[in-house]
Amino acid sequence: MKLFETTEQMGHEQVLFCRDEESDLKAIIAIHDTSLGPAMGATRLLPYAEEEAALQDVLRLSRGMTYKAACANIPAGGGKAVIIADPTNKTEQLFRAYGRFVESLKGHFITGQDVNLAHQNICQINRETNYVVGVNAGCSASTTALGVLLGIKAAVEFRLQKPRLEGLKVAVQGAGNVGQNVCKLLYEQGAELFVSDISQKKTQEIKRFYGATVVPQDQIHSLDVDVFSPCALGGILNSSTIPHIQAPVVAGAANNQLEDEQIHSRLLESRGILYCPDYVINAGGIIDVYHDMIGYEREKVLENTNQICDTLISIFRRAQKKQTTTHDAANNLAKERIMKAHKTKVKA
Ligand code: NAD
Repeated sequence: MKLFETTEQMGHEQVLFCRDEESDLKAIIAIHDTSLGPAMGATRLLPYAEEEAALQDVLRLSRGMTYKAACANIPAGGGKAVIIADPTNKTEQLFRAYGRFVESLKGHFITGQDVNLAHQNICQINRETNYVVGVNAGCSASTTALGVLLGIKAAVEFRLQKPRLEGLKVAVQGAGNVGQNVCKLLYEQGAELFVSDISQKKTQEIKRFYGATVVPQDQIHSLDVDVFSPCALGGILNSSTIPHIQAPVVAGAANNQLEDEQIHSRLLESRGILYCPDYVINAGGIIDVYHDMIGYEREKVLENTNQICDTLISIFRRAQKKQTTTHDAANNLAKERIMKAHKTKVKA
């Protein structure tokens, strides 16, 4: 990869390569854009086979965080960090060394918990820096689920002209922290539920509590329902699955749902399926974390989360007007907000 060319094209402000021999830390912190505020982005730990894959991941994810915060109306920029390590061999030394690098950025980058980090690891990072969120173990999943519910409602009203979810069929893929909360909220709205998960225990609970029909993993996306809600994996919207999707609306919490952002957002659009861009509909998580950082007030969190609905409607309208995909319309909205903030910053 041509590093400077790539980061310039993607718009990154700073990339920090972190190495500590004693703890064997190898990490990369990418700060994409701080026009709207300090870069926020969680840290993930993975045994990347190639360093280049780690770099690509952190560059792509940090840009995604910029767009996510911008669409969520949060005064934060986008960043992300990856630690290249074996998740079965995590040490306090490693996280403290990493924490010192985060501290060296003096609040320019604020991090939190992502793949393969436990709450304990966040506390270890916190021994070296205060620029880490989630120390007082909250759970953002319920706010994320609320955002997803509001997004489903907005999409159903826009695409199906139905003001209520009562009697509508919704297929939820994944009954984890977010998925089970989405099921609960949908049940309370009178929706008929279909659910799949690799864990039978989880699907049985959803069946027992919310009367859901349990569906095999490889069939959940192809059911004849009103809404398909991916709440498990990334890459679920791809060339194999999209031709079989019957739902006119796709609206779920999973990150990076489109295997290829351009190809698969167009494929959904060409099939008349209204796709809620993942980073817009699942912004409840970052909204929750942001408010946790500035002093949690539930009312303000709800006010911010409610805006997901209006943002999605405006994205649907833009896409319709410009005959483009909802994915492109969301990216354009984010870029406009960032550009505006950037200009204000430059003038000041
Ligand atoms: P989780 O790990 O608690 O739940 C994921 C669930 O998906 C698990 O129950 C797992 O068994 C299931 N699963 C895995 N593979 C599956 C498959 N092939 N078919 C069906 N189910 C499968 O994670 P979560 O916190 O609920 O997050 C779910 C998704 O939402 C993730 O993509 C995450 O990145 C995204 N997200 C979460 C938040 C949050 O606040 N937790 C915020 C934004 C986005």
